[in-house]
Amino acid sequence: MVAKVPPEPFRIKMVEPVRVPDGDERERALEAARFNMFGLRAADVYIDLLTDSGTGAMSKQQWAAIMMGDEAYAGADSFFSLKKAVKEVLGFDYAIPVHQGRAAENVVFGSLVKEGDVIPFNMPFDTTRGHIFNAKASSVDCVIDEAFDRTNQHPFKGNVDIAKLEKAIAEYGKARIPFIMVTITNNSGGGQPVSLANLREVSAVGKKHGIPLLLDAARMAENAWFIKRREKECAQMSIAEILKATMDTADAITVSCKKDPLVNIGGLVACRTEEMYYKIVPRVILFEGFATYGGLAGRDLEALAVGLHEMTDEQHLTHRISQVRYLGDLLEEGGVPCIQPIGGHAVFIDAAAFLPHIPQGSYPADVLSVEIYREGAIRGIGLGALAFENVDEKTGKRTFPKLELFRLAINRRTYTNSHIEYVAESIVNVYKRRDSIRWGLEMVYEPPVKGLKHFLAHLKPVSL
Ligand SMILES: *Cc1c(COP(=O)(O)O)cnc(C)c1O
Repeated sequence: MVAKVPPEPFRIKMVEPVRVPDGDERERALEAARFNMFGLRAADVYIDLLTDSGTGAMSKQQWAAIMMGDEAYAGADSFFSLKKAVKEVLGFDYAIPVHQGRAAENVVFGSLVKEGDVIPFNMPFDTTRGHIFNAKASSVDCVIDEAFDRTNQHPFKGNVDIAKLEKAIAEYGKARIPFIMVTITNNSGGGQPVSLANLREVSAVGKKHGIPLLLDAARMAENAWFIKRREKECAQMSIAEILKATMDTADAITVSCKKDPLVNIGGLVACRTEEMYYKIVPRVILFEGFATYGGLAGRDLEALAVGLHEMTDEQHLTHRISQVRYLGDLLEEGGVPCIQPIGGHAVFIDAAAFLPHIPQGSYPADVLSVEIYREGAIRGIGLGALAFENVDEKTGKRTFPKLELFRLAINRRTYTNSHIEYVAESIVNVYKRRDSIRWGLEMVYEPPVKGLKHFLAHLKPVSL
């Protein structure tokens, strides 16, 4: 059943015109993009659901705060606005701004992790995995088994399996484990939440062994909303209280502020001790800028300070998360197979089940992205073989990921419920004609950088 979605808790005061390109224009745009969604010009897209990163709309309060930017190199007032917001909303005494989430990862992993270290995770996000790799360390996935079952309705599919965590600690030992890390919500697992009870257990395991807990907290407000709805003990708490309780479990956090904190650019590291602060800061100065601006303008810090407060607004979160679920429900009603339950920031379509007649080596998720663009000038992104396949350098043998997904990420405060209905209708139309989609994609240019293939690949349609 399709649940009702609440009306938008905002009204529109400035419009950004978008146009719908016609069929010929879409074909030309696809050719020019080499059939890669990252190659499209945004002007050729009507509804852009490529990512929810930095693509949301700021509030009038954030725009007003931008005028208060203090651009001093060191110790600017804007830094202290941010520091105050971090203390009030998240409870950490030390705030380090950086330019985005992966920069937070760079300064933290580069400062606290040494070669050969092992980091137990629920699951790392792909940039996080990259930075672990870059630090010559590795990670162990300790997420619960339910995370891998597409139709399992577990309420907290991002949870850490405590037995797996204990096993990892026993196997590698405290000396090789600089910290435990949990991604909230679990992006790589489909935006699935982690319960407060689970975070407290993980934190207790860490304390027992003397290992700190870090959170990758890009979607911490969405995670708090899910906790309020799904964890009985927390039903009477406000989102702000749940968020604070979540943060109380952690020794430090890295944040892409382009997600829940509602800014177009920005990232954050926050920690509790001066000792950790001084371990991290040299690398901030090396890569980002002085410790009180971290690669951002003073005005960006002001907008972020306001965004940190706004992200805890329950009406905003209820609308956002319900809107994501609304899209998922409309698609399911039209027969389109989606990952269940629908997560906080995106709907993931099972492209392998949508186009079962296209072999995974012909990139079905990316064929689907082309067909959906053709149908409605809508942009999403394939997350399947093109993004994650492994090709053996010697034998050329290809191994494919377990899941072949197509993601529609919903921007914050950007599209209305009627845009969502348009997206669902277009995709259901593609689903109805799925049997006639009898072609695949072939890579004609493969970028030499491992793991970044899907951003830069050139593709060519081939008939099957
Ligand atoms: C987006 C994201 C990152 C990386 O942040 P960027 O701002 O894109 O560099 C890291 N972790 C998670 C969970 C994310 O969603």
